[in-house]
Amino acid sequence: MHPFGLSRADDPAKAVAAHAQDPQLAFIAGGTDLIGLMKDRAALPDRLLDINGLPDMARIEVLPDGGLRIGALARMSDVAADAAVRGRFPVIAESLLFAASGQLRNMASMGGNIMQRTRCAYFRDEDDLPCNKRRPGSGCSALHGLNRNHAIFGWSDACVATHPSDVAVALAALDATVVVRGPAGERAIPFTDFHRLPGDTPERDTAVGRGDLIISIEVPACAEGRASHYLKIRDRQSYEFALVSAAAAVASDGRRIRSARLALGGVAHKPWRPRAAESALRGVSLEDRAALESAIATSFTDARPLEHNAFKIELAQRVAVRALQTAGARA
Ligand SMILES: Cc1cc2nc3c(=O)[nH]c(=O)nc-3n(C[C@H](O)[C@H](O)[C@H](O)COP(=O)(O)OP(=O)(O)OC[C@H]3O[C@@H](n4cnc5c(N)ncnc54)[C@H](O)[C@@H]3O)c2cc1C
Ligand code: SF4
Repeated sequence: MHPFGLSRADDPAKAVAAHAQDPQLAFIAGGTDLIGLMKDRAALPDRLLDINGLPDMARIEVLPDGGLRIGALARMSDVAADAAVRGRFPVIAESLLFAASGQLRNMASMGGNIMQRTRCAYFRDEDDLPCNKRRPGSGCSALHGLNRNHAIFGWSDACVATHPSDVAVALAALDATVVVRGPAGERAIPFTDFHRLPGDTPERDTAVGRGDLIISIEVPACAEGRASHYLKIRDRQSYEFALVSAAAAVASDGRRIRSARLALGGVAHKPWRPRAAESALRGVSLEDRAALESAIATSFTDARPLEHNAFKIELAQRVAVRALQTAGARA
């Protein structure tokens, strides 16, 4: 294990300044991802700044418009159990309950969850195999290697990894924003811009940079929020990352879709929003499986499977249809 120093932050402004000035310093919240990365030597910070003592960052609040503000230090289990979250946005609660294990969810923070890094086995491998995300310029072992769990959308020759967070998929579907405090002050990042596609710089996962502290995640009120569902398919039924997942939220007139929100997990370097399908779903009956399938298919014309993951194209479409129908049944 890489040796490190540990200190505790009690003031957000000082935490931001310390992080901005010291490239060897990392924030630590629950530590459930960062410590694993340090053991795998995929992250080697010399200093950790424990942010758990920062004030007012663990609260879950209902906003005046009916939306939610979730503090970055709120624990996954607290958010999943919160009555306002469960009632207003079941898709958020479900995505959290299907993630990790009870013990992990008690430790893991929301900010840390959306910042977690890919589970690509080459990236996490202590043997330091070629991996552009771990060692820029070294190559991508997964591109022509074991890529069953990897991306079918938006990948580049430099990296074909997927993003592993479940709740990020729900937050992308709901058009949440991430409130970040940086050296130049506070800014709000739309969730769909928070995670990046790999391009030529897969070492950068998010829009967050040095000196940036995530303060909260805001979820706007929306007509589709209550009739929402998260469906996660994995190789075993518990304690496993998604092979493919879908977050769906629906507003309907009778059984006909008025508007649908959809995001897919396990298919790209970021939660994937199939916008063409969302448009094509308007006016479709939730009972008409064939029409739902053809609306969803409009977003799969540009899917690019790798050698071992072509099955994800059909699986993701089926998961999206089932998630929509379950969400719609709650309307
Ligand atoms: C065995 C196992 C199974 C898992 N299964 C799942 C799963 O099925 N689904 C899923 O979604 N997740 C899963 N996870 C991941 C887990 O949810 C994350 O490890 C956890 O959410 C990270 O939160 P944390 O508070 O522990 O973050 P930490 O480990 O403390 O930090 C993670 C990263 O976030 C940064 N960070 C933390 N807080 C902030 C902040 N406020 N501002 C800026 N940067 C910050 C840290 O610097 C670090 O880079 C699993 C993890 C393990 C170990
Ligand atoms: S897919 Fe990305 S994370 Fe995995 S080996 Fe390739 S560069 Fe590394």
